[in-house]
Amino acid sequence: MKVFIILFWIEINKIKFKNINMASSFRIGTIMGIPILIHISFLIVLPLFALIFASAPVPYGFQDVQPVFLSYILSFITTILLFACVLLHELGHSYFAKRYGVKIQNITLFLIGGVSSMEEMPRNPSQEAKMAFAGPMVSFFIGFVLFILNFGITLLVASYADTPFYRLVGILATINIGLGVFNLIPAFPMDGGRILRAWFARKMNYVRATHNAAGVGKFFALLMALAGLLSNPWNLWLLLIAVFVYMGASSEERSTVITTTLENVLVRDLMSEDVVAVSPDMSIDELTQFMFKHKHMGYPVMEGNVLKGIITFTDVRNVPPIDRPAILVSDVMTRDVVSISPDASATDAFKLLTTKNIGRLVVMENDEVIGILSRTDLMHAMALLNE
Ligand SMILES: [Zn+2]
Repeated sequence: MKVFIILFWIEINKIKFKNINMASSFRIGTIMGIPILIHISFLIVLPLFALIFASAPVPYGFQDVQPVFLSYILSFITTILLFACVLLHELGHSYFAKRYGVKIQNITLFLIGGVSSMEEMPRNPSQEAKMAFAGPMVSFFIGFVLFILNFGITLLVASYADTPFYRLVGILATINIGLGVFNLIPAFPMDGGRILRAWFARKMNYVRATHNAAGVGKFFALLMALAGLLSNPWNLWLLLIAVFVYMGASSEERSTVITTTLENVLVRDLMSEDVVAVSPDMSIDELTQFMFKHKHMGYPVMEGNVLKGIITFTDVRNVPPIDRPAILVSDVMTRDVVSISPDASATDAFKLLTTKNIGRLVVMENDEVIGILSRTDLMHAMALLNE
């Protein structure tokens, strides 16, 4: 059990809800033009869920089904269909997102469900509310249709209620309703948190609305944790969900504050204009002296007026001191430089720095380097703007 908690914790930390590690996901197809990905954690869940359904008693499992292998087949099918329902829930969000012009990079199925990775949320409260509401509605719809299906067939063929298929449909119906209800809990990262923010956002600015919605989410998380600790024995699932909700609320608040604060600021206003460039023929030894003098951590590498690459302190540190006189800047510099236009917003710069995981961007205008924008520049701007 302890191992499981650790795995779960690592998983949550790695996902951080938005920046899903794409390297550990693989693509299974495309629906409505959106790539559908499966995270590797899903492969752990698949047999685990199948095992749970196979060993659970009536009416939530197939424990009584004979022969045993048939119970495993039924459990496996239930699990696959369950995740298909999760996918439909996500597609419900995506349908409205596309209608409101929000770009969706992908939908990823992972350990605790599905996540749609969107470029950004619509800022129009009624659009965000509809988009958030669409997912739970899909789940409720599937749940009710399946219940009606079971009920209808039983009326026609009374013995149907004794078949494993009746139970399979029943399990899926129950879980879908549960999924709809769970997602309406007014806490990030659940859909209810977004609906709540949209409600706040009609009366106040977006950052305040997010702050309030996140506060309600954290309060819910604490209640859940308390309920988990007070039950005897401790309810581990409740504690895990509490942690999940608390972290979701904090991360949503943080990223909203950053993106909205920097939104109306241009790269041009924050960049350092006195670009100190180095030549590709400089040795690493010479560059170290140069860095001491100029105190920047990264430099564009220029040959005349042409940008050849970028070299940072990390590149220098990777060269053993003994080799430094012989190795040139051009040998270790990064050649594919990530650049940005001076008229782009600082929010875009922030997203670029985080997604590419780099420290600085070269600001280019008409094929000419006119400045450098570093993470530190953005952090200083954030601090000043939030004063
Ligand atoms: Zn949802």
